Amino acid sequence: MSKRGPSTEQIHHPFRAPEGWDAVPVPVMKASTVLFKNTAELHRPRRQDGISYRYGLPGTPTTYTLAARIATLEHAEHCVLTPSGLSAITLTSLAFLQPGDEVLLPDNVYGQNRHLAGGLLARLGIAHRFYDPLDASAFEAMLGERTRLVWLEAAGSITMEFPDLIGLLRACRARGVLTALDNTWGAGLAFNAFEVAPETAPGLGADLSMQALTKFPSGGADVLMGAVCTRDAALHRQLVAMHEYLGYGQGQNDVEAVLRALPSIALRYRAQDAAARDLATWMAGRPEVARVLYPALPDSPGHAFWRAVSPAASGCLFSAVFRPEFDARQVDAFVDALRCFGIGFSWAGPMSLAVPYDLSRSRSLGLPWAPEEGGTLVRFAIGLEEVEDLRADLAQALEVLGG
Ligand SMILES: *Cc1c(COP(=O)(O)O)cnc(C)c1O
Repeated sequence: MSKRGPSTEQIHHPFRAPEGWDAVPVPVMKASTVLFKNTAELHRPRRQDGISYRYGLPGTPTTYTLAARIATLEHAEHCVLTPSGLSAITLTSLAFLQPGDEVLLPDNVYGQNRHLAGGLLARLGIAHRFYDPLDASAFEAMLGERTRLVWLEAAGSITMEFPDLIGLLRACRARGVLTALDNTWGAGLAFNAFEVAPETAPGLGADLSMQALTKFPSGGADVLMGAVCTRDAALHRQLVAMHEYLGYGQGQNDVEAVLRALPSIALRYRAQDAAARDLATWMAGRPEVARVLYPALPDSPGHAFWRAVSPAASGCLFSAVFRPEFDARQVDAFVDALRCFGIGFSWAGPMSLAVPYDLSRSRSLGLPWAPEEGGTLVRFAIGLEEVEDLRADLAQALEVLGG
């Protein structure tokens, strides 16, 4: 062979690192093109288990390793990864809903899931209604001929109601309706999505568990990723098929960041849960605050349902409802006065965050408090700072309310 040019030499370089390398981290395998040894291998039929090294998009050894670890975290058998938590929601709804079907959503569902149902799903001729996650008998009466999929979320977004998971899942089981749990809050650590109450309701669980890996699994506020897990091979095949239609893939550096964070997820969850418990209890005792929404607090909506499913874990999120005499502008001034809390969305990263919410357009069935009982709500996400520093910061910021 004549001497090849420097580009060809680089691209077709013959050196291959010897076999036998092993280390704790999973190697980052990047590819769009995946090479076949020869044409015979190219013509061989695809494997049926969803794992195939034919092209970078469906997966690489790095992404399949992450998927297997997330399946383990979720007590599941199968897992597909998606580019964000939201895309995992979209994947699930598109994989199982057809024109003419109906999907039921809890009234406190993650806002972008509500947006998807009212927008794209409605355009596709898929109906939706909202249910009260605390009222399983009213929910049961809503299940109809067309109800194909039920979304569950425990605890719900922003207002933190813990649903009657056992009652809701029993009603769906009795009618054979598919259930998908947005398990971002529990992260697979608070309770098992596929068997939510092994003592009192053995075998009862969701069919699908979706998670924003953006939150606890990443833990770094630096990655967007999602996952949908199941124990059912047929459901998994439907997810893989839709995943292929949508052309979802992940950046391998992002996959590596999540792999790197998973060994500390349980420690981080426990630490952030303990700090949130401390601060939620402290905030509930403050005169400026009408109530604190945090499942472990006895007067938080759905507390008894929380105790039945997740008594050891209450997550890193709580919301404080300020007394009605403080208007939204004053509560904004309190948030602006915080120094250890960033103002921003997402959660479960290292930095604590605070966001005031106007829920007037994101609830169909009303709020868990009357206007004379409470006013503006601030959602807190507790990070990894020392809890004493966060408490002192909340105390100094509350002074702007003249309390
Ligand atoms: C953040 C979040 C999502 C969406 O995750 P992204 O990765 O930000 O798209 C979905 N559900 C819940 C409950 C979330 O908190």
